[in-house]
Amino acid sequence: MTTVGILGGGQLARMMALAGAPLGLRFLVMDTVADACAGQFAPMVVGDYTDEVALAEFASRIDVATFDFENVPAQSAKWLTQRVPVYPIPRALAVAQDRLSEKTLFRELGIPVPDFADITSRETLDAAIAQLGTPCILKTRRLGYDGKGQFRIKSPADADAAWDALGAQAETVGLILEGFVHFQRELSVVAVRGRDGEFRAWPLTENWHVDGVLSASLAPAQVDAAMQATALTHARKLAEALDYVGVFALELFCRDGELLANELAPRVHNSGHWTIEGSETSQFQNHLRAVLGLPLGDTRMLGHACMLNWIGEMPDAMPVLREAGGHWHDYGKSPRDGRKVGHATLRADSADALADALRRVGDALGRQAQVVPVVARLRA
Ligand code: AMP
Repeated sequence: MTTVGILGGGQLARMMALAGAPLGLRFLVMDTVADACAGQFAPMVVGDYTDEVALAEFASRIDVATFDFENVPAQSAKWLTQRVPVYPIPRALAVAQDRLSEKTLFRELGIPVPDFADITSRETLDAAIAQLGTPCILKTRRLGYDGKGQFRIKSPADADAAWDALGAQAETVGLILEGFVHFQRELSVVAVRGRDGEFRAWPLTENWHVDGVLSASLAPAQVDAAMQATALTHARKLAEALDYVGVFALELFCRDGELLANELAPRVHNSGHWTIEGSETSQFQNHLRAVLGLPLGDTRMLGHACMLNWIGEMPDAMPVLREAGGHWHDYGKSPRDGRKVGHATLRADSADALADALRRVGDALGRQAQVVPVVARLRA
């Protein structure tokens, strides 16, 4: 009997546990709060990630460890590696936790990135704004996610406000300034690399964000074969450079036909949730296969799929459940502003049929704004 330990007990851990059940796996989840939603499906150790007593108990009850979020302290991941195998390896986690080191690695590997500068003081911010131009975005290097820890600078006059908002964090989590990319599309590659170096990727996904949070994902993204190949080459290079094991996502901006890398998420990813019903093997199952050294599953798509995120509170399930290709995911969380509480995936055999289903669901739920850009892309 193999027990997989997951650091972090959110919806990603929950979906991992659900995907691992058919493989006969057991799970143990560690989280700082007792009501983490993965705890509804797996036993838990509750404790701070830096608490060595809790970590020791966690390690003593598992065969292998992985993560459901990237901000696990790198020290804790290293501590665990002395006791159990940990995938992805802590170095990959450390690089992906820091926007400056990940962008530096992208550049070293020849993967195009938006212009960026390390910001260590108010003076370096002024110099970087002058160099990169406006608009630009000041971001924390570490611990930012879903658009948090970011300030958009529209003109040099916003420098004071940006520094007031984030300047105090220059010495704690660090800051980076990025040139604003006037992209036409946001895309992501979700890919997996096994312990033996085998690499597979799902088709490119197009993503729409609202206030920095993912709202909808469409797969396959409607891009040409050359762009698909370029994105996969970038992802593969990155996985090999980091000796990566498991699933990861590479988020990309598409500007005038060029792909620019935004960030690497070293874990299963929200833009890959559609793989549960839309692909031969889901990202969750393939992550577990990779981490356990099992053969990777086929990443082939089954038709067309669109995932809609539910933020804050769950809508009525009926309009989705009535659809032939409608799939419902309620994470079992209590409602809270800005919280990811669930998602739906609609799957269909053709782009047109998917657009029709999306329109019906959007109308029935009063969420036309969420589906309109996806329908427009499918009809283009
Ligand atoms: P991030 O947390 O870096 O993924 O940023 C969240 C969202 O903010 C992205 O998905 C984009 O929609 C937007 N964003 C982040 N960085 C940039 C950038 N350099 N230029 C334009 N938009 C950006």
